[in-house]
Amino acid sequence: MIVSKLPQVGTTIFTVMSRMAAECGAINLSQGFPEFSPPKRMLDLVSRHMSDGANQYAPMAGDPGLRDAISRKVKRLYGGSYDPEKEITVTAGATQAIFTAIAACVHPGDEVILFPPVYDSYLPAVLLAGGKPVCVPLSFPGYRPDWQKTADRITPRTRMILLNTPHNPTGTAWKESDLQALHAVVQGTSVLLLADEVYEHVLYDSRPHQSLARFPELRERSFLVSSFGKTYHMTGWKIGYCLAPGELMSEFRKVHQFNVFAVNHPMQRAIADFMAEVPDFETGLSAFYQAKRDFFRAQLEGTPFTLMPCEGTYFQLAGYEKISGMADRDFVVELTRRYGVAAIPVSAFHPGGEDRRQIRFCFAKNESTLAAAAARLRAVSAPFPLEKTS
Ligand code: PMP
Ligand code: GLN
Repeated sequence: MIVSKLPQVGTTIFTVMSRMAAECGAINLSQGFPEFSPPKRMLDLVSRHMSDGANQYAPMAGDPGLRDAISRKVKRLYGGSYDPEKEITVTAGATQAIFTAIAACVHPGDEVILFPPVYDSYLPAVLLAGGKPVCVPLSFPGYRPDWQKTADRITPRTRMILLNTPHNPTGTAWKESDLQALHAVVQGTSVLLLADEVYEHVLYDSRPHQSLARFPELRERSFLVSSFGKTYHMTGWKIGYCLAPGELMSEFRKVHQFNVFAVNHPMQRAIADFMAEVPDFETGLSAFYQAKRDFFRAQLEGTPFTLMPCEGTYFQLAGYEKISGMADRDFVVELTRRYGVAAIPVSAFHPGGEDRRQIRFCFAKNESTLAAAAARLRAVSAPFPLEKTS
């Protein structure tokens, strides 16, 4: 018999809910992915690079043209300089970058600080490395980091702090003062930082993205991760990148070369060309999603759902405490089956399974989809179905 390395882990909630949505013919606002296509030019460029012969392995660290383009972008937006040769690696999505950074740096028994609710891949990655997760939950209901509690949890065994801004699932975004507080916490220690910034271009109401790349004193101890999936509406391509100072990146690549070696070649070339042709594509992204956020929220006005503020990402949290006392995992099943709208229970992001009666909707959808989903959600009323479906 096999002894599981992750005995508490089942199938990821994104797979479970998307499957249930398909089975029930429900509108799928659960797993986060856009309903729109990547730019047509991007697709044409992939075809061109396939025809032109980029069909064998890409260089291990990533296509040089793409690494150059990433370096230019990060310099332009955040002022941070990363050497494409030694400090940038193209990865199979942000998930692999996060996993690889943890595998490369966390030793058995090392403590890794997390701020739950957290994206569901973080905890298993820490556990597989033999790390000890140390949870410092975000405040409730504001979902802000508590810097005093974070400082109190630093020990000589603290190897890494894992952070995510803008934040999935809560839609909050860190302020400059958060980065300053983080600096005060880690100053004088050898603690590493792993920043998940995949929603760096999806921020609302003119908020700037507080990238770690803006802060030289944090950058020197940080892995910074992003994903092209979010920026160009192509989550299925699974291409992202990791930035880190040379010493850290050299350890990262020791693992990367053996868990993926290299990433899809023609697609890397296409992204590189596209970034050169349309260097400011991301500029319109926040406005694009802000219109969707505002539309979806307006559509839900007057329902008994409690809408949480949304500062960034394409996720809207909603409390259902006025509708039902059901556990959130049961509530989303009922919502999918009875009302035809699938969502994600927020307890799936809590390592301890804390349930605050909140669910997450993805609004990266066309207005017609959002309107249809909202019409169904407007029909939800208390008391929520009392008898359980089979
Ligand atoms: N981190 C966060 C916070 C995410 O929301 C996601 C995906 N939605 C990822 C990482 C993974 O990104 P990728 O699909 O590029 O692996
Ligand atoms: N990150 C996406 C979300 O939060 C899903 C990614 C996945 O399915 N693994 O919904």
